Amino acid sequence: MAHAVGASSSTARVSDAESASERPAAALTAPLRLSVLGATGSIGASTLDLVHHHPERFEVVALTAQCNASRLAALAIQHRAKLAVIGEEAHYAELKSLLAGTGIRVAAGAGAVEAAAREPADCIMAAIVGAAGLRPTFAAAEQGRRVALANKECLVSAGDIFLAQIDRSGAELLPVDSEHSAAFQAIGRTSAGSIEKIILTASGGPFRTFAKEQLQRVTPEEALKHPNWSMGAKVTIDSATLMNKGLELIEAFHLFPVAAHQLEAVVHPQSVVHCLVMMEDGSVMAQLSHPDMRTPIALALAWPERIATPVPRLDLVALKSLSFEAPDHDRFPALGIATEALNRGGAAPAVLNAANEVAVQAFLDRRIGFLDIAPTVARCLEKAEAQGLINGVATLDDVLAVDGEARTMARNVLPS
Ligand code: NAD
Ligand code: MG
Repeated sequence: MAHAVGASSSTARVSDAESASERPAAALTAPLRLSVLGATGSIGASTLDLVHHHPERFEVVALTAQCNASRLAALAIQHRAKLAVIGEEAHYAELKSLLAGTGIRVAAGAGAVEAAAREPADCIMAAIVGAAGLRPTFAAAEQGRRVALANKECLVSAGDIFLAQIDRSGAELLPVDSEHSAAFQAIGRTSAGSIEKIILTASGGPFRTFAKEQLQRVTPEEALKHPNWSMGAKVTIDSATLMNKGLELIEAFHLFPVAAHQLEAVVHPQSVVHCLVMMEDGSVMAQLSHPDMRTPIALALAWPERIATPVPRLDLVALKSLSFEAPDHDRFPALGIATEALNRGGAAPAVLNAANEVAVQAFLDRRIGFLDIAPTVARCLEKAEAQGLINGVATLDDVLAVDGEARTMARNVLPS
C-alpha cells in the first residue's frame, strides 16, 4: 500500500523533528526559496500572505497563474519574484509590459509553467487547481526538495505514480489540505500498525440541511457560498456535493499508511476539528484550528518548525459545542461514488476526478443541475469500466490519456 507521510515507517518522506534540531543554525536562518504554482488562486493568496508576514523567512523564486496577468504582475513585484509565468500565451504581452524594467523574467505557456516548477527552489507550493496541475506538480517533485501539496488531484488521479516520483527524487511531501495536515500532525511518530482509523471531517457545505427537492433547484451562486471556508470555485462546489471529501479519502489513502477500509468521513458543521486519528490503544488524536488555510499552509512551509499566522484563535467557550453527524449518502451520493472508485483502484480515481471536473464546470455554466453532478460521474465510471479504461496506468502520460478520454465521455453523458 502506498503512503507518503507520517508514522515511523521506512517510507516516510519527511525528516523527523529530532533531525531538524541537529541542523546547523545557518540552515535554520537562511531564507526559504519558495515558488508558488497557482499564485493567483485562493491557496496562492494565503501562501503569499504568510510570505508578506514573514519577509525575512522567504525568498520568492517563481510565481505562476493561468490568465490573470495583472494580479500575477502585482504579486511578482510585491514579492520580488525572479520569474513570473502565465499559462495562457495570449496574456504574455500584457505580463511582459507590466513587468518591463523590473528585472523579473517573464514566460508563457503550459511548458513554461512546468519549467517554473523546475526552477531551483527549496519548497514549491503546488496550488494549481485540477488535473491541469499534474505535470507542473510532477516537475516540482523532480527537484527532490519540498513539495507543499495543495493540488489533491495529483494524488487522486496519479497517486502511486506521483509517490514513485517523490521516492526517486527524494523529495519531501507535505500535505496542505487541512484534513491531511491535521492527520499528519495527529499521527506524529505513531507507528503505522497502531493506527486504527483516520476520520476526515466535512463541513457538510451550504446544503447540509436541504431536502432533495431543494437540492434540485440550487444555483451556482448558492453553492459558492461556503459556510466556513473561503476557497476557489471548484473545491467549493465539491464541498457542497461532498465529492471533495471523497477526493480527500483517496488523497489520505496515498498519504498515510492505512487501508481504504480504515478511512472514514464524518460531517462536522463547525469545521474546527479537521481530522481525528483513532489509535489501537483507544486514544483519538485530533487537530483543531479556526477554518483558515493559512494554518496548514504555514505548517507545510515551516515544518518541523512553526511560524506565527494572523489566523483568528479558537475561543472554545464562544464556540460552545462541536457537533458530528453521519454523511447522508442519499442526498450526497458523491462520497459513496468516490469511495467505490478508491476501492476499484487502477484508473478509476482518475476517471472520477476528470468526470467530476467536467460536471462541476457544466453546473457552474448552468448547463446541468446540482443533482446531475454525481450521476454524471457515476455513469462515466460505469462506461469507463465497460470499455476497459480503468486498467493499466503506469505513467503520468497514461493517466493524462485516461483523463482526456474520461472528459470526452463526461461531455457525452451530460444531461442536455
Ligand atoms: P483557485 O481556483 O482559487 O486557484 C487556482 C490557481 O491555479 C490559480 O492561480 C489559477 O490561475 C491556476 N490555474 C488554473 N488553471 C490552470 C491551468 N490550466 N494551468 C496552470 N495554472 C492554472 O483554486 P484553489 O482553491 O486555490 O485550489 C488550488 C488547489 O488546492 C486545488 O487542487 C484544491 O483542491 C486545493 N485545495 C484548496 C483549498 C482552498 O481552501 N482553496 C483547500 C484544500 C485544498
Ligand atoms: Mg480539505
